[in-house]
Amino acid sequence: MTPTLSRRALFGTVAAASAAALLPLRAATAQTAPVPRTVTYTRKIGDVEVTTLLDGYFLLEQTLVTALDPALIAQGLADAALDSSAAVPLPVTGYLIRQGDGLTLIDAGAGGSLGPTAGNLAATLAGVGVAPDAITRLVVSHLHPDHIGGALTGGAATFANATVHVNATERTFWADPSNAAAVPDAMKPWFDLAGQMLAAYGDRVQTFDGDADLGGGLSAVAMPGHTPGHSGFRVSSGAAQALIWGDSTAIASLQFTHPDAGIVFDTDGAQGAVTRRRVLDMAVADKMLVSGTHMPFPGFGHVDQRGDAYAWVPEEWKLF
Ligand SMILES: [Zn+2]
Repeated sequence: MTPTLSRRALFGTVAAASAAALLPLRAATAQTAPVPRTVTYTRKIGDVEVTTLLDGYFLLEQTLVTALDPALIAQGLADAALDSSAAVPLPVTGYLIRQGDGLTLIDAGAGGSLGPTAGNLAATLAGVGVAPDAITRLVVSHLHPDHIGGALTGGAATFANATVHVNATERTFWADPSNAAAVPDAMKPWFDLAGQMLAAYGDRVQTFDGDADLGGGLSAVAMPGHTPGHSGFRVSSGAAQALIWGDSTAIASLQFTHPDAGIVFDTDGAQGAVTRRRVLDMAVADKMLVSGTHMPFPGFGHVDQRGDAYAWVPEEWKLF
């Protein structure tokens, strides 16, 4: 059965959230299988090796897309050769960055929060020969479940030797009970998960503000809107660089052609749209190699300008 994020499950009283999953899910009619255990792609950025790790995927109900007419959603999906009447399939990706002796993970996948179609990141890491204990730091774009669920295993830290780096505003937002009180019931467990994750890593959690050098060729780029402290990360080595933008642009089939469209999970959709355009403009101007958690796997590409909007240009698989 396919877990699907639905507006009804999120805001309604009809469907209860799955007991096994923190995100609001419902059973859909389509049959799917869990993703294979080890799906990765490795690309060099200068001397730095970046491996995209497929954690899995989820299906986003079209009704969870905001600020876009349903007819344009259907058209966008059709233009992308997707089923225009079905939920939008979105991969969940984590990034392993090898530089020198350090092993950095950007985002940790969903863990158990999305059900059986995601949560493979730890197994995927094992498939490329990396034990959880070998990760020296975990850098998170934001504290949504599909980015931090994998940081916990049975309530304990998955990455026992890792420091955790998170934007200070992001940490403060998810730790404030008044913010939890303001969201629909189905999203309240997201605050619990964020709290559990931060508690599990305790004093190994380090915060940064805005645009910040995190060391080792990695720097944070503030991208607020999707969440208050949502951050992207620039990977630099010599003249080479890539920008990993988290969820700044999350729906490739819709948000390049309609950059003002958002997702109902955006804390501030208008701010998210401003940020999205700023990041996409930067990617165009600098002809920057970019990637994002939910971009079509293996996730690397460039951005082209198209009038007042944009186009995603997937990078051809690097064979050498
Ligand atoms: Zn998110």
